[in-house]
Amino acid sequence: MHKEQRTFIAVKPDGVKRGLVGEIIKRFENRGFKLIGLKMLDVTSEMAEKHYAEHKGKPFYDRLIRYIQSGPIVAMVWKGYDVIIGSRQIMGATSPVDAQVGTIRADFALIKEYNVVHGSDSEESAEREIAIYFNEDEIHDEYENMAEMVIEDLG
Ligand code: UDP
Ligand code: MG
Repeated sequence: MHKEQRTFIAVKPDGVKRGLVGEIIKRFENRGFKLIGLKMLDVTSEMAEKHYAEHKGKPFYDRLIRYIQSGPIVAMVWKGYDVIIGSRQIMGATSPVDAQVGTIRADFALIKEYNVVHGSDSEESAEREIAIYFNEDEIHDEYENMAEMVIEDLG
């Protein structure tokens, strides 16, 4: 059964620098997901460490923290049916050589470390990550989008 969820998605600094913001947003909109939060910001050290706490101690951690702070990111909250697994599917595997062709990372990422986009991997991490980047009053869920209307019609 489908389940309505929220997730945190970010265009990482390499994606912003390469002009891929519109391309990435388009892919989530095409799928029928609903954009409910959006901002461009510089990630602080504190935010970066909170965001990537699960990776602390791993060999790639220091570079990951530098990477996410190497330029502005575009932070987003998306809502939709099964949006967490659905957005992971749209993004593809962490490394572009493992990702399916047609996913964002297969189509645009240069290497595993610089892979253009972030997306939460569970409901728990989604809510934790949303809270790092957004206040609830910055999230706009009051309008109905097409996917919500269609699914309502189908029951
Ligand atoms: N990463 C890396 N080297 C690795 C694995 C991951 O540099 O061997 C980076 C990469 O930018 C990745 C992020 O760390 O997106 C978080 O890793 P995770 O395993 O959570 O991958 P994701 O959930 O982003 O697919
Ligand atoms: Mg992850």
